[in-house]
Amino acid sequence: MHNKSLVQLANSLRAGEFTSQELTQHYLDRIEQFDKDLNSFITIAPDSAIAQAKIADTLLQKNKAGPLTGIPIAHKDIFCTAGLKTSCGSKMLDNFIAPYDATVVTQLKAAGAVLLGKTNMDEFAMGSSNETSFYGPVKNPWNHNRVPGGSSGGSAAAVAARLTPMATGTDTGGSIRQPASLCGITGLKPTYGRVSRYGMIAFASSLDQGGPMTRTAEDAALLLSSMAGFDKQDSTSINEPVPSYLDFLENSLEGMRIGIPKEYFGEALSPDVGAVIEGGIKEFEKLGAQIKEINLPNSQLVAPTYYIVAPAECSSNLSRYDGVRFGHRCHDPKDLFDLYCRSRGEGFGAEVKRRILIGTYVLSAGYYDAYYLKAQKLRYLISNDFKEAFNQVDAIISPTSPSPAFELGEKVADPVAMYLADIYTIGANLAGLPAISIPAGMSHELPIGLQIIGNYFEESKLLNMAHRYQQNTDWHLKTPKGY
Ligand code: GLN
Repeated sequence: MHNKSLVQLANSLRAGEFTSQELTQHYLDRIEQFDKDLNSFITIAPDSAIAQAKIADTLLQKNKAGPLTGIPIAHKDIFCTAGLKTSCGSKMLDNFIAPYDATVVTQLKAAGAVLLGKTNMDEFAMGSSNETSFYGPVKNPWNHNRVPGGSSGGSAAAVAARLTPMATGTDTGGSIRQPASLCGITGLKPTYGRVSRYGMIAFASSLDQGGPMTRTAEDAALLLSSMAGFDKQDSTSINEPVPSYLDFLENSLEGMRIGIPKEYFGEALSPDVGAVIEGGIKEFEKLGAQIKEINLPNSQLVAPTYYIVAPAECSSNLSRYDGVRFGHRCHDPKDLFDLYCRSRGEGFGAEVKRRILIGTYVLSAGYYDAYYLKAQKLRYLISNDFKEAFNQVDAIISPTSPSPAFELGEKVADPVAMYLADIYTIGANLAGLPAISIPAGMSHELPIGLQIIGNYFEESKLLNMAHRYQQNTDWHLKTPKGY
């Protein structure tokens, strides 16, 4: 059962091959069997999952089922779920039960998906390896000594290990695409504003975007159809109709112009990843695309710009965790100042504190112009590079991550090395563009992802390209040993 795609699962449920209760139990059993070791879930919700599956079975029997009715899902623990713990990977929210559902959670409930539980993640989505989680690191199912990527590493590992057929993630600087690449699955970051951020715990509000994490592009298209859409509760949500993403999957790629940014193939790129991406580009050529070298001249400024903008927004967003309204409160505070200091000091981990300090610094009077304002200007230039590129090409292909999954602990002591894990993904966040990572090869038994960046609202094109690629290759079908 657990090797079927979402479309196959939906068909099997309709044909009565198995019930949603059986399917849900099957995944719960797999989580029980494998997750003690993998640590991809923070919360598992077996009772409510079975109850939701029962309802789904009734709808299926009455022929009232939607495309996702009765299919299990796991949400990254950054999405608020009413009545079920939402920790954001932090001790700060270890005791937090959200009073409401995030819009994405509401939409997927309405689509009939069955919630298995909440997946592990870097604390407040800050990280590239899942090692900043209060709940301990997630292991990469391909090699338990390796990281799964981050921050949506729990979702990526759970999908790769077939502990759930689909999961949600969020991506502020690469947190859907980089773990998708390191775990060998498909992950899409939509255009900024395409998926509602309401109830998605904020890290850097001008960059954060939720998206689907699945094994195939077709599955991602199906899941995105239920996640995307206008939400008046999110002031940055964009009121554009949601296309039927499945309808574009088979389009021909004949004559499509694909740009290869020269700057993304420099010395930071490991040779084995470079070789895989070259192979992937050839595959698109075979499918009829025209390949053209392009320039994104400000690429070397992408990571420095992000590491000003994201901490600045994080320092503001995380000021709400003060021990007063919700989250961790220190024991027996002397006075209000002591309450703030100790609650925050005890509740946040080292990486989150580092970001709050940097963010507060770059926003402070005297430094604002030198850092924050300058970063905003660079952000404009970086977006402009993409704008120019899309005057010449229809899509951009690059590596997702400079290397395959690295070892647990390898970069923990060197934050800058960790930050560079996202050099190829951050640009799309700064510009607000959609981008997808798909499995495109292996090196030393570890998967390698290829990234496709599209113009605004061209998720359909990205899914179409990814699907055509997957029809002609089998990297997305590879399974980690033992799962
Ligand atoms: N790794 C990046 C960071 O640590 C991106 C995280 C994300 O996309 N949420 O900020």
